[in-house]
Amino acid sequence: MPIGPGATGISLSNIKVCARCSLRYDWRKSPTTLKMTYCSSMCEAADLGFTLEALLKMQRPVRLVSLEAEPVAEAICP
Ligand SMILES: [Zn+2]
Repeated sequence: MPIGPGATGISLSNIKVCARCSLRYDWRKSPTTLKMTYCSSMCEAADLGFTLEALLKMQRPVRLVSLEAEPVAEAICP
C-alpha cells in the first residue's frame, strides 16, 4: 500500500528505521551492506567505525574479482 503523497511504489513492509539517525527509509534502496539496519553507508560507517563492504574487500579481494570476471567470459562464448 502506498503511503504519503507521491510515494507510489513504496510499501510499509519495506520501510525501516535507521539504527543511527532514526530516518525512515526504503531498505531496498539503501546502499549499505546492512540494508535493513542503516539508511546509508555514512550511518553504517559512523556506527560501526567501518563498513562491511570495505572489510570484505580487504579480506577477500581475489575472490571478489573472480566472481565478477566469470559471468562475462561465459556471455562471450555461449
Ligand atoms: Zn541513517
